[in-house]
Amino acid sequence: MSFNVAIDGPAGAGKSTVAKRAAAARNLIYVDTGAMYRVMALYFLKKGVDLKDEAAVTEGCREIEIELRYENGVQQVYLNGENVSGQIRTEEVGAAASVTSAYQPVREKLTELQRKLAETEDVIMDGRDIGTCVLPGAQLKIYLTASSAVRARRRYRELEEKGIDCRLEEIEKEIAERDWRDMHREHAPLKQAEDAVLLDSSDMTLQQVVDTITGLIDRKRGTLE
Ligand code: C5P
Repeated sequence: MSFNVAIDGPAGAGKSTVAKRAAAARNLIYVDTGAMYRVMALYFLKKGVDLKDEAAVTEGCREIEIELRYENGVQQVYLNGENVSGQIRTEEVGAAASVTSAYQPVREKLTELQRKLAETEDVIMDGRDIGTCVLPGAQLKIYLTASSAVRARRRYRELEEKGIDCRLEEIEKEIAERDWRDMHREHAPLKQAEDAVLLDSSDMTLQQVVDTITGLIDRKRGTLE
C-alpha cells in the first residue's frame, strides 16, 4: 500500500514550498494539485471561454488532457501535450482557477487523476480538498495556514523577486477573495479535515515548518512499520 501525505490550506500558506522540500527529504513524490486546476483555467482563458458559463466550462473539460511528468524530480504539467508549467503561475490564472474549480466536472476530472497517482506512488499531495475528499484515507493529513497579512506579504515578496510589479493591498484583496470562494463553494470546499494536524506558520521559518512536517512523517511511518 502506498504512503500518502495530504497538505491542505488557503492560498499563500507556503504549502507547495514546504511540500516540495519535505518530499525531497523523505523520498516522496510531490503532487501539486493547484497546478492542475491552474492548467484547466489556462485552457479556458486561452480559448476565451466565459468562466461564469458552467455549461461552456463543462464542455471544455472534454477537450483537455492533463499530464504530470517529473523531470529531474520537478513536476512539469502538460496541457494537451504542451508543457505549460511556466504559464500558470500568474495571479490571473490563480484567480481563474478558483472560479472554474468550483464546478463539479472540473473537480471530478482532476480528482480521478490525483487518486490514480496516489494509489501507486508514495506522495505528498497539496491542495484544498486532499484530506477531506481526494485522499480521505491518507496516513497523514496537515492543514497548513498563516494569518492573511503574513500570506499576502509572502506572496508579494515572491512576485517582487520574480520582477513582477504588484501592490501589497491588491494581493491581500485577491487572496481574501480566493479564500472566500474556495471555502464557500458547494463541492469540496476548503476546510480542515477532522483528523488533520493544524499547523499555523505565521511565526515559523520555512525550515521550522519543513522540520515539523518531516518529523510528523517519520513518526507516522514509525507507527506503521
Ligand atoms: O494552490 P494554488 O494557488 O495553485 O491553487 C489555485 C486554485 O485551484 C485554488 O484557489 C483553488 O480554487 C483550486 N484548487 C482546488 N483544489 C485543490 C487545489 C487547488 O480547488 N486541490
